[in-house]
Formats: sequence, C-alpha cells, structure tokens
Amino acid sequence: MDIQKLVSQMTLEEKAGMCSGQDFWHLKAVERLGIPGVMVSDGPHGLRKQDQSADHLGINDSIKAVCFPTGSCSACSFDRDLLFQVGQALGDECQAEDVSVILGPAANAKRSPLCGRNFEYFSEDPYLASQMAASHIKGVQSKGVGTSLKHFAANNQEHRRMSSSSEVDERTFREIYLACFEGAVKEGKPWTVMCSYNRINGVYASENHRLLTEILRDEWGFDGYVMSDWGAVNERVQGVIAGLDLEMPASGGINDAKIIQAVKDGSLSEEVLDKAVERILNIVYRYLENRKPDTFFDMERDHQIARMAARESMVLLKNDGILPLKKGGNVAFIGQFAEKPRYQGGGSSHINSFKVEGAVEAAAGMANITYAQGYITKEDKVDEKLLAQAVEAAKNAETAVIFAGLPDAFESEGYDRTHMRMPDCQNRLIEEVCKVQPNVIVVLHNGSPVEMPWVDKVKAVLEVYLGGQAVGAATADVLFGDANPCGKLAETFPLKLSDNPSYLYYVGEGDRVEYREGIFVGYRYYDKKEMPVLFPFGHGLSYTTFDYSNLHFSADRICDTDTLTVTVDVTNTGSMAGKEIVQLYVQDDESSVIRPLRELKGFEKVALEPGETKTVSFTLDKRAFAYYNTEISDWHVESGSFTIYAARSSRDLVLSGKVFVESTVQLPKKFHRNSTFGDLMADGRGAAIVKEMMSQTAFGSSEDAENESLGEGTSNMMEAMMRDMPLRTMVSFSNGAVSDEKLEEILKQLNG
Ligand code: BGC
Repeated sequence: MDIQKLVSQMTLEEKAGMCSGQDFWHLKAVERLGIPGVMVSDGPHGLRKQDQSADHLGINDSIKAVCFPTGSCSACSFDRDLLFQVGQALGDECQAEDVSVILGPAANAKRSPLCGRNFEYFSEDPYLASQMAASHIKGVQSKGVGTSLKHFAANNQEHRRMSSSSEVDERTFREIYLACFEGAVKEGKPWTVMCSYNRINGVYASENHRLLTEILRDEWGFDGYVMSDWGAVNERVQGVIAGLDLEMPASGGINDAKIIQAVKDGSLSEEVLDKAVERILNIVYRYLENRKPDTFFDMERDHQIARMAARESMVLLKNDGILPLKKGGNVAFIGQFAEKPRYQGGGSSHINSFKVEGAVEAAAGMANITYAQGYITKEDKVDEKLLAQAVEAAKNAETAVIFAGLPDAFESEGYDRTHMRMPDCQNRLIEEVCKVQPNVIVVLHNGSPVEMPWVDKVKAVLEVYLGGQAVGAATADVLFGDANPCGKLAETFPLKLSDNPSYLYYVGEGDRVEYREGIFVGYRYYDKKEMPVLFPFGHGLSYTTFDYSNLHFSADRICDTDTLTVTVDVTNTGSMAGKEIVQLYVQDDESSVIRPLRELKGFEKVALEPGETKTVSFTLDKRAFAYYNTEISDWHVESGSFTIYAARSSRDLVLSGKVFVESTVQLPKKFHRNSTFGDLMADGRGAAIVKEMMSQTAFGSSEDAENESLGEGTSNMMEAMMRDMPLRTMVSFSNGAVSDEKLEEILKQLNG
C-alpha cells in the first residue's frame, strides 16, 4: 500500500478525523478510500476487548479471555523468552478477535511501592523493565499485531494523574525514567507508543515535542504512531505539532475541528498533519497486511501458558527447609485467597477471565487439604469465627499454608496506596496461626511490596504477586515440588515505607511532584546508603543450589567503543533440576560524579539439571559503564577501573573482576578565574602550571609546610586548602607577581 499516495487523496476533514478515534476503541474508517476502522484494546496482561459498553476503567464487562500474570509478577521471571511467549499468545488472541493493537506493555519505573499501578509495571530497575517490555513487544508483534508501549513518560503515581507535573532533572530522567522506555523502543520496536496523562517539568506529555519527537523519534528511531492515553489531550493542535498522532478516545469532533481550523489559519502546517496521518495509516496497514482471520482463540492453551508463566515468575523469599511439601500429608490451606486468589489488579487492565484456578482446587490431588477462609476482604475487620476456624484447622494439620495479601481495595489504578501494610486482620491471622502451628508458610498475593511484621515467625514465604488466572495451580506446583521456584524480585522490599527514597516527596505538593531522590531509586538508594532491607532486589530462592565459577572477561582493558564479553560458569550443586538467574552488576570504582554503587547491566536465566554446569555469557557495551552527562547531553564513560560482579542478587555478589575502560571522548573543559587549582590538576595538563603558580602564592612555600612548629597535618591542610582555592586568588596572594592580565593569559593558554 502506498500510504503517501493514500494520504494525498484525503480531504483535510478526513485527515483531521484520522487523528482521533471513532469511538472508545476504534480508529475512523474512510469508506470512500477503503480505509477500515481498526480496533485497539487493553492490555497489557490479557485481552480486554469490549463489545458493547465501553470504558477505560474496567467497569463494564469485556469478552471472556485469559488473564496472564501482571507485569510486577512476570518481571520476576527475568525471562525474555517467557515474556515473548506470553506476547505471542496475546498476539494470537488479537488476531482471533481482530484487534490491531493491544495496549501495553506498561514500562514505567517503580519510584515508590505506593503507586496504585505498580502491579502493571515491571521493575524499579530501568534495564530490567526495558528488557521485559521489549520481549513482550516482540512476542505480540511477531503475530502481526501492534503494541502500545505506555505510559510515556515519568508517570509514576496515580494521584492527580491527569494533571500532575513530574519535576525531574535531566540526568535522572535519562538514567531512570526514560531508560525503561529507551531499550524497549530501540530493541522491541513497538508499533505505537501511548503518551502519559501527566506533565513533565510542566509540559503535558501529550504536547511535549521534546519527548514525542526529539527523543522518541529523532534519537531513538521510533517509526510508529503515538496515541494519547484515554483523555490525555490538553491542547490538541499543540499535540499534533509535538508529535501526538492519534487522540483516544473520540473527541466528538471537537478537536478534529480545531485541527482543521489551525490548518486553515496557518497555525498548523498541513505537512505536519499529513505526517501524523501517514504514521497512523502505516500501522493500520501493517496490521491489515498481516491479518490472520482464521486464528483460533485457544483459551485452554493460553491458560496453560498463564500457569507456566506464573510458575516461572513467583519468588520464594524465605525457606527454612520446609518447602517443597511432601505429597500426601495433612495440610491446612488458610485464607480466602486459597480458594479465590487475587490474581489481577483493578482498572483498565481488568480481564474477564474465562476461568480461575484456586490453590484449594488445584492441590486437591496432592495432599489432604483442609480449607479455612480465615479472613474477609470486604473490610479490614477480624472475623472472630473465621479466625477461630482457621486456628483450629492449623492446629489439626501438619503444616499451615496461609494465602494472604492485598485485597482489591488496597491497590488499584486511579489511586495510590497510603501505606505498605497488609490488612491488620490478615496480620493477626498469621500471628494466631503461628501460636498453634510451628510449620507455617505464607503465600502472598499483592501487586507491590508489603511489610511483613511476622516474617521471623513463619518458615517460608512465597511471593506470587498477582499471578494471573492460573496462579492457584502454579502455586500448588511450586508448594509440592512439581516445579522448582525460579523467580527473583524485580524490586526491593524495604523493611518499612519510610525507608523508601521517595518517601518524603511522593505524590508531591499540589500538582507538582519533585523527584528529589534523583537517580537513587530502589536498590540504587538502599545499597548506596548501606541500609538493611526486608528482601533485596534480585533475591529469590530455589529448591536446589547453584555455584558460580570461572568469571572471565574477553579483555582487561577496553575502549568505550568496544564491547566486553563476560562469561561465568554456573553449576547446579543440588539434587533437583532448577533455573538460576545470573545477574551482572557494574560498579564505577572511582568517579567524579555521584553514581549508584552498582547497577544491573546484564542478566541471564539458565536451566540446569543436578550436577550440570553451563557457561553463561553477557555482552557489555558503553552503556553498561556510562552515566548521562548533561554537559554534553550524551552518555559518557569516565576512563578508569570498573568492577563487574556476577551475582545471585543485588546483595549476594558471588564473583567479581575488574576491567579498565578508556574513554574515547574528550570532554570540553573551560577553565575560568574561579576554577580551582584542584580542577586544573585533575585535568592532567595543568599540573606543571599549577606548580609554578603555587610557588608564587603565600601558601606556596614548602618550607612552611615542613615547619615542625606548625604541627602534624599542616601540610595536608595546606594542600587541601590549595586544592579548593580559585585561580583568581593567585592575584590576591602573589604579592603582585601574578596580575589579572597574566592570569587571563594563562587561562587563554589552558583553554586554547
Ligand atoms: C489507562 C490506560 C489504558 C486506557 C484505555 C487509561 O485510563 O491509563 O493504560 O490503556 O485507559 O483503557
């Protein structure tokens, strides 16, 4: 299809119309030209196709479909292939249902455990988030269906989500909040991107030229169309100019008329409009040309994929040897979530599951299960009768498994949590059960971290997050050892909310929220501060054990234009087959800028039979060593030594080695009167000049420094003072030997 030709045949009215939806879920058709009105639907972890009453809040029913684990859960798999496979299943479902784009994945970095939508997001780490998003995108799109990477960008809270301004400095924006999209765009090549509701440093994402055109398209090479989040348009014409192609949902013609008017009065160039229409139609036809109308929506197959995905993602946080449970024993399953799991979050991602498997039902053949409801979810109130029944059931069993977590009302799209606690009634239940039963296991269903005041009293904790509609079966698989847990945390579980770096500033004042913690998000903060945490980023246990050996680098010195290959051998030293997620963290040993202690720059998941060894390989490029240098508006590596760790988690660093990375970029340096002697010395070129200059100042005489009567440490003191003195002090302290003119001459020489 020659899209440009097609656009040239469209009237101004048709083109303006193409830039907004027909209704809640469809783009407009232009029958005259044979352009059909294709459909888009939520996303991300299932297909929410609405036939009749449409809404973006998940209120009205959508068609029966399959709910896969949510982003916070699937990210813990650290498994690119798994995300790809789930994406493929979603792509098939869209083909079967004639949906051109499925809205997601949602890749925003988790700034605070309180964000109501954390369950949809992947990680606090931008590299992990972008890798998971890219794999999801590639999976869906391999089926000829588009994705919409969302919510671009810095949309990290629900409070005032449609108007708040995320005030974030450039380096933080680049290293954290853009980075989680950057990799996803560059590697995943999403067909569409959804701009977020919020403003960034005062400018709405939906009319942010820098974001939607300069960064997304010019820098990252995005070639699809940008759509608005539902209702995110502020000034429509500004949006078109900024690079927002499609407004969703329909604006009832109001904004189309504004676009037409703007073209007529010259405030919007028709070429800019044409480009937007061209980008939309490119994707519409990409879908139409890849149509596979005969695809079957195989719900049972996809349910099995959802089960497998949940199994591969859940995280065994603690295990005092009690798990896996032996089959055939007497086990009490306690808590409503054992029967009716909480497996997805509320809002626009809400899936109308065709079936849901609870753990009670799924484990029926594995052990002699007694079930007790234990608590209610409607309100946070202890039901004494249910509590007593649960305690009784626990007392009479060999083991008690408590299925706990956050009820729907505790977290959702649309609002943020105000605390990190579980319902008091559930905490009380766990405490009471622990009094009568020494063998207690807690299985947690939640979209985001919770405090665990009882953690020392229980023998095991299995975090299943919001694991999709097959979570009950997957949980039974793991509890009874049919599957070996192999997920690791994609976010830190702090001990308490106030430990979180954004705690003091989260949700902001009025409609401004300042990201004052800067780049220190998640483990980047806890590690730098040497803080104890409940469970660190990257943590997760297995029923087997893994040893690491032979960490090897392809070179011990590279340039920042080279790549480095890192290999490490991993051996399964236990007696059960299992999977290990090997994490690579990079640390800049010495830096002139403030950097995190170390950052995740690689991960691989490897399956090993007992006794088996495999070599895991990683490739690191410049980005693995760089920080974002705002002076040159680019990623920059400072020449020097870096330590690379092969690790089980961010806090379990197993092997390490050093590599020297040489920068190929000469930073422009300009010295001025108020540059210090230290600045000059650090530059290398200036050392000789400094020496000469120093000898002419009152502090310059080495005899003074060696004068014993001045006491020990005097020379250190003088050196330190010297280092921090501005060059202009030469004029003041040289007794006329260095004039202002002479200083200017020296500066010219240095900067020349
Ligand atoms: C959400 C999006 C969603 C859209 C359509 C919005 O409220 O923020 O994530 O895709 O509605 O339902």
